[in-house]
Amino acid sequence: MELEILKPRHSLAHLLAQAVQQTIDPHVALGTWPAVEDWFYYDVLLSEWIEFGEDNLKDLTKTIQWLVKQNQSFIFYKAKDKAEAEKIMNFYGDASRFKKELITKFADKGITDYTFYLNVIPAAAAPKVLSYAREEYMNIYQDISDYFAKQGAINDDQFVTFLDLCEGPHVETTKEIDPGSFVLDTVAGAYWQAKEGNPMMTRIYGLAFASKDELKKHQEMLEEARKRDHRVIGQKMKLFSISPLVGAGLPLLQPNGMIIRREIEEYLWELHKNKGYSRVRTPHLAKEDLYKTSGHADKFGDELFRVKGSDDDFFMKPMNCPHHMQIFSDNLFSYRDMPVRYFEPATVYRDEKTGQLSWLTRVRAITQDDGHLFCRVSQISQEVGTVASIIKEFYTTMGMIDGYWVRLSIRGPEGKYLGSDEVWEKAETALKDAAEKYDLPYKVGVDEAAFYGPKLDFMFKDAIGREWQLATIQCDFNLPERFDLAFINENNERERPVVIHRAISGSLERFMGVMIEHFAGVFPLWLAPTQIMFVPVAEKFTDYCQELQEECAKNNLRAKVDTSDDSFSKKIRNAELDKIPYIAIIGEKEVNDKTVSIRVYKTKEQATLSANEFIAERVKEYTERSL
Ligand SMILES: [Zn+2]
Ligand SMILES: [Zn+2]
Repeated sequence: MELEILKPRHSLAHLLAQAVQQTIDPHVALGTWPAVEDWFYYDVLLSEWIEFGEDNLKDLTKTIQWLVKQNQSFIFYKAKDKAEAEKIMNFYGDASRFKKELITKFADKGITDYTFYLNVIPAAAAPKVLSYAREEYMNIYQDISDYFAKQGAINDDQFVTFLDLCEGPHVETTKEIDPGSFVLDTVAGAYWQAKEGNPMMTRIYGLAFASKDELKKHQEMLEEARKRDHRVIGQKMKLFSISPLVGAGLPLLQPNGMIIRREIEEYLWELHKNKGYSRVRTPHLAKEDLYKTSGHADKFGDELFRVKGSDDDFFMKPMNCPHHMQIFSDNLFSYRDMPVRYFEPATVYRDEKTGQLSWLTRVRAITQDDGHLFCRVSQISQEVGTVASIIKEFYTTMGMIDGYWVRLSIRGPEGKYLGSDEVWEKAETALKDAAEKYDLPYKVGVDEAAFYGPKLDFMFKDAIGREWQLATIQCDFNLPERFDLAFINENNERERPVVIHRAISGSLERFMGVMIEHFAGVFPLWLAPTQIMFVPVAEKFTDYCQELQEECAKNNLRAKVDTSDDSFSKKIRNAELDKIPYIAIIGEKEVNDKTVSIRVYKTKEQATLSANEFIAERVKEYTERSL
């Protein structure tokens, strides 16, 4: 998150807690307020007798706006030691128990600096501008003001309205915040320190942006996102189903959804098949030993699905990589064979917690469009370049190439990494070279590499500007080591290859969810489950419709004829509800002239053209995967 927007967002979290103390509960126990993208929030534990919900948010937003207009200053204060930090917290009595827990935690970590930020306003103005505040609130802060005046942290003519244990950054004064640029939005529950069994806090969320306009734009985007929700569209268009008997996180693809999935999978393979990739196939489970060797047994721990066989114990595979390592190692490759490239869209299984599952975007059976490259260190740059060009082509076709960017994750100064400095140096340079050579707009993420190697992650924006991390290219020095992989080099010696993991769409389930929302269900022709609907004006024209439909089928187009008893206008409406790209209307004139009258769903255009021409155009649109 950029610092400039972080400051007001973070400052607003302080104002939010202050507003709660003033107007709702002077004895509220404050938790923490982590910064998140687009949002600010505060976790609070309200006194038991207080009823609080989303109905309160409007008034609370108004109070915060008022606090902003008071032009409150943020003043830094460093406590002398832990004892003073605790003493300050004592002003709140039991309500400071979470903050005190944090202070103890800091002390255990050896932290000696306890920094606070005080909000202050002129004392003379306080009774008037805070006339709405609860009496207990005023009493607590009168004592606090007296204390800090005595410490010389504020002047006698200043009044403290809030304080928090915090490191910043904040605005200097609330004048810097546009009172129209934020709004409280949601109330949720969250365990203290995200730990089950801890007290359930009330998490109050607000949206905050640099200006009123930006906030409005974001709210419109959220509204649009709600309309595009893949769960709603997916059900309306019969793309997939969730069955309680099958289980959460295990979506079932309906025929319509499978058409989309197959088109995407076939396209992915088409992009790879002429670039030296071979298809491989691996089973859905493997002996525990495989994942103990790969390290995944440790890494995934409780997320692994265990399968008990009569002789051996198995895991449902959490990753495809170890399988592919075995395929490689069963060959005696020479340097002339390198790089070796495997491709397999394959499903992996992870036992995500039920609460975290979400339709297509978070599932338990995840199909990765997986691929592994085995190459020499000197070949990394070239290979990464080829994968990057595949990624660019794929997302251009999807209409998501505008504004994409790439994170190049490299080592940090302190982290623990596997592999020699020399190899890391070479791999990081190779990724950077590829990023530059292929014109990838990249940002370097220091200390963001995996322990096993540097990587490139690709971020793409959908039609409403939401960013998704989708494709990835990762170098790996770890697995070749663990599986003792080697090829024979020019000197007739065993040489260790580097493995490159790459995924273009990431998970095909999540990707379909993203595509449904990106296109809002209005898929381009090549992805549309039904591409053309022939609608006869009267029953006697059905035969001609069927002739045309057969002609389409011969050309691999997915066309249907509406032979239902519905009225003509209902048929048109149904085809439109299904967002079918082309409705072809057939009446007397069309039959006589061998033409079709078409309505284009996306552009609302209408035209009449020869049937042959229409079909030829659609074939072209399909093969070109036009948007
Ligand atoms: Zn702060
Ligand atoms: Zn992999």
